[in-house]
Amino acid sequence: MTLPGFDDRDGFIWLNGACVPWREARVHVLTHGLHYGSCVFDGERAYEGRIFRSKDHSRRLLRSAELIDMRVPYTIEQLEAAKSQILELAGGGNKYVRSFAWRGSEMMALGSQSAHIHVAVAAWPWPSLYDPKTKMRGISLDIADYRRPGPSCAPVQSKAGGLYVTATLSKHAAERKGCADALMLDWEGSVAECTGANIFFIADGILHTPTADRFLDGITRQTIIALADQRDIMVIDRRIAVSELASFSECFICGTAAEITPVSTIGSYRFTPGRMTQTLIDAYASRVREPDARIA
Ligand code: PMP
Repeated sequence: MTLPGFDDRDGFIWLNGACVPWREARVHVLTHGLHYGSCVFDGERAYEGRIFRSKDHSRRLLRSAELIDMRVPYTIEQLEAAKSQILELAGGGNKYVRSFAWRGSEMMALGSQSAHIHVAVAAWPWPSLYDPKTKMRGISLDIADYRRPGPSCAPVQSKAGGLYVTATLSKHAAERKGCADALMLDWEGSVAECTGANIFFIADGILHTPTADRFLDGITRQTIIALADQRDIMVIDRRIAVSELASFSECFICGTAAEITPVSTIGSYRFTPGRMTQTLIDAYASRVREPDARIA
């Protein structure tokens, strides 16, 4: 069954303060965000009607905007209320929630300081990215040709649409080679993250993850570090060279959409998803469903 396009669904989208019928949530073609990449977004998951770490996502949306010189004209509390309303109208349950902001069509030139900042929230069903039955076999990653920009080239902690151009290019190139995703390196050639997920490795019962000062420090990544800490699993947060990949036995990627997804290959490097990955998958699956997870 093919689902209708994202512009042709039932339901409601919160747009600049009001819930509008899904098909009527439109923008004009002469919109700054469309031409110059001036938009930011956040991706969240609701489990059984509650958005996991919702406030952290709202905070990040405001911060992402600030980093690209945009001020979202809503408070965290207003965004929280908008997300709750849209989730409820979508029937609660397990949903993906997308909140986003962009420069509008009031001005159309690079300098658009007086263009309005528009905000929207939508929610839709989005099951696990990978089939739970085959998930432990692991996915294959390509190594992307494009690298993450250096901190002096772009505001890398912003989930700004423009920064995803090389991520899409890398994901498409990986898919053409039969891989699920691509590992991206930082500007110096150290391991960074995937196109829309962070990455962890395991060797001798210790977790290793690249330091997130050159790419997005994901909320799932932070949750996994906390979960590992509670279980006395050591986490080493450091620069990781590509040549070290051969020394790790397990690898997984993580993010709101990917949750925790085991990896079986990165280029010619092989990993065997095992006990520690499974332990963290189980711990994450119960953490996101805890009643207090919303306020974390
Ligand atoms: N890196 C990038 C580039 C991403 O787009 C995402 C998804 N938001 C992540 C990492 C993971 O972040 P989070 O765990 O907050 O979803």
